[in-house]
Amino acid sequence: MAGGVNRIPILDLSPEIEELWDDLMAAITRVLRSGQFILGPEVEAFEREVAEYLGVKHAIGLNSGTDALVIGLRALGVGPGDEVITTPFTFFATAEAISLVGATPVFVDIDPKTFNIDPNLIPAAITSRTKAILPVHLYGRPAEMDAILAIAEEQGLKVLEDCAQAFGATYRGKKVGTLGHAGAFSFFPSKNLGAYGDGGLLVTNDDGVAELARMLRAHGSKRKYYNEMVGYNSRLDALQAAILRVKLPHVDRWNEKRRQVAERYNELLSGVPGLVLPEISEGHVFHQYTVRILGGKRDRLQQALAKAGIGTMVYYPVPLHELPVYSKKESTKECLNATQASEEVLSLPIGPFVSQREMTSVAGHLRWLLTHTYA
Ligand SMILES: *Cc1c(COP(=O)(O)O)cnc(C)c1O
Repeated sequence: MAGGVNRIPILDLSPEIEELWDDLMAAITRVLRSGQFILGPEVEAFEREVAEYLGVKHAIGLNSGTDALVIGLRALGVGPGDEVITTPFTFFATAEAISLVGATPVFVDIDPKTFNIDPNLIPAAITSRTKAILPVHLYGRPAEMDAILAIAEEQGLKVLEDCAQAFGATYRGKKVGTLGHAGAFSFFPSKNLGAYGDGGLLVTNDDGVAELARMLRAHGSKRKYYNEMVGYNSRLDALQAAILRVKLPHVDRWNEKRRQVAERYNELLSGVPGLVLPEISEGHVFHQYTVRILGGKRDRLQQALAKAGIGTMVYYPVPLHELPVYSKKESTKECLNATQASEEVLSLPIGPFVSQREMTSVAGHLRWLLTHTYA
């Protein structure tokens, strides 16, 4: 076994860049020649195209997925003193955005089968200060939106979807991000639709929310120098928009490839003791292919795979309710399923360009390690 080098990286963006090279260069050249680098026609064109793809009335190009969450929350009227119900098993930005608008994240445990927020546990977490629910479609798997929306409707709560890992995912035939009052997307390079820099998007069918979000991204102004509120500098830049326009027409094919990789892994890994495989559920776009390694072997296994040149990641090693920023708050309760997940999950190399040989190698090593070395 060769040490050190990741012969099979967890993610490799170079094949997609090679495939689209000529189109990318043409798009970049067009923007450079246009002299318009922030917002402008390229961003407007992307906003139209992505709104049509998602089937939503408004799409607002922003600086990042984190900003999309912050601006989405503010546009939905969430602010100081409010509580927002969310999952502790997500990237920090989900809860950070809630804190940044002055509200308090209230963590509700996950369903161990889906890794997403368990809607059955939401009602008990609602208080008179609850303003919104912020579900995350983790790893590209849509959250249980029917149940979440029913609770929100009954209680008069807003729903902001964190779709950072789920671009193109569908729930009962509709694209995620269009089910709640607003949806926040990230175009961080590693996401299913990634820019080559930071970028984000807020989508909504609500005209008022869209208008507020457009103001908030430009220092709280509709008209330059006539600022009406304190906002942000959070505009999508034209180069990223042009790159995203090149990539958008390919995203369905790439997501389908990801599902095929997941199906193949599930075949190759079936019957391995101590291994729990992800369900290939409806509309799942497999931003990550994440297994559970039972019996406290996860970290040793990850190291052994690294020695064999196989890159893996733990998303996420600490659930947010255990991070010191949140664990000390009175409103933070135990979330045992999230804690257990953080000790067991392991994400394997996935992407539209993972080859059969790579899948066979990854699965072969994992099977061998679990049936021999760490049996
Ligand atoms: C990536 C990610 C974000 C943040 O997006 P950025 O564009 O990096 O700011 C938020 N939530 C989740 C679940 C993410 O995976």
